[in-house]
Amino acid sequence: MNKWKCDNCGYELDVNEPPEKCPSCDKTCEFREITNYVPKDFIPEDEQNGK
Ligand SMILES: [Zn+2]
Repeated sequence: MNKWKCDNCGYELDVNEPPEKCPSCDKTCEFREITNYVPKDFIPEDEQNGK
């Protein structure tokens, strides 16, 4: 399962393939894959332990 985010309204959905139409804004949107998206301020556990 992949995670997709509508580039237009920010709607997120968990599907293998993004739909042609965004269920939220009801438009043909660009869907950005955010499956492995890591927030900018994300600190890996290894670094938190001072390793
Ligand atoms: Zn949308």
